[in-house]
Amino acid sequence: MKVFRREIFAILLFLSLFSVMSLFAEPLQNDLFVVLRPDGIMGGSFTHGTFKVADSADAECSAIYDCLKNSPELKKVFEMYRDSQTGGDPNKKALPLNLVVQKKGLMLMNSFSGYITTYGKDGKLNTDYQYVCPKIDIPLSSDNFAVDPKKLSDPSARMEFMNGIAHETAHAIMKQTYGYIPKGLNPFAAFGHWQGQMSTNQLAFTEGYAEFMGAHFSGDSLDDSTLWRKEMGDNTVQYPKTREENMKTEGVVASIFWDIAKLPDGFNKIHRVLKEKKPWTIECMVKDFKEMFPSDAAAIDAIMDENLTPVKDSIIGCWLEIKNMRAQIENLEKEIAATGNPITKTSKFIDLQKAKGNYRNLLNRYISIYGYTEEVLTSATRPVSTRQTGINSGAVNVISSGTSPFSE
Ligand SMILES: [Zn+2]
Repeated sequence: MKVFRREIFAILLFLSLFSVMSLFAEPLQNDLFVVLRPDGIMGGSFTHGTFKVADSADAECSAIYDCLKNSPELKKVFEMYRDSQTGGDPNKKALPLNLVVQKKGLMLMNSFSGYITTYGKDGKLNTDYQYVCPKIDIPLSSDNFAVDPKKLSDPSARMEFMNGIAHETAHAIMKQTYGYIPKGLNPFAAFGHWQGQMSTNQLAFTEGYAEFMGAHFSGDSLDDSTLWRKEMGDNTVQYPKTREENMKTEGVVASIFWDIAKLPDGFNKIHRVLKEKKPWTIECMVKDFKEMFPSDAAAIDAIMDENLTPVKDSIIGCWLEIKNMRAQIENLEKEIAATGNPITKTSKFIDLQKAKGNYRNLLNRYISIYGYTEEVLTSATRPVSTRQTGINSGAVNVISSGTSPFSE
């Protein structure tokens, strides 16, 4: 009997919660972006389809909406997308960005071509909600990159999500800035691409720009970029070895953008160059930049040298080894802090001492072989959480101090 009553109570509670949620369900849109759900009945294919504007009764969508809406950094990138359409004229109407939350998808991505149509609760097509792409697909589950709305309160998950959204928005900004869909995205983009992959000059340029914007607007940092661009952890990757190969590598291009943006008014200057000259490779962008802003030429040359200097495999290996060993030590320290069992604790202490000893030996070896200081080696491998933020970055780039182990 008791169980039965509990069930009734649970059902009543569920019904009342549901009605409260329905009562306050509001469309998840504003003038900058709109959150959409693909419609299963009417279609909703990959780039073309019919969509409903998600509302606040949909917990998954509303958590994502709240994160997008309450982030001042993302507001800036969304406003930049709006201004890229209106030229900053408040009287001109701009289309909001379409963010499609899907149950399952390939990855967080931007569909450039196609059209989408939305309709209201009455089932009729709603012209108010009729948009042209780009749209950004946000998969709730994926083999590659999923967004878990429940984890968005975690700072690092939130930053990764915002970085991705700003990255995809940057592709849309670039499309508006140039007036057409960026060249070079296909076919490579369809097969996948990553920071250290050597692709083509054009793909590296468009993706490197988007990676730079993602970090800039999410509060992430590319300050240890000389290392970051090689942080692949995949031995099958062909590391770029020459200046020319570096220019075909998106992580390198992102690092160059990042460093140029730190020059006085650098961020705005980059966008003036993109708008006026429409360059398609980093080499052309830099040439155009120096023509438009000759007083920055020397600084730009230094940035190019810094980022394009070929890197030796042994040095990459050295850094990866140090990084892995530091991760091992950090994990053991966490495990020791978490365990309540004195025996496990003791054995982990022994492991920790061993790991610290190995780490010390490794550092000493690289210090004696390459002549680097301990400070350079350890600051080069500092964990993400201690990186400076992109937007307020007054950061000192340790790697560009001239003592870099990676610029031989
Ligand atoms: Zn991209």
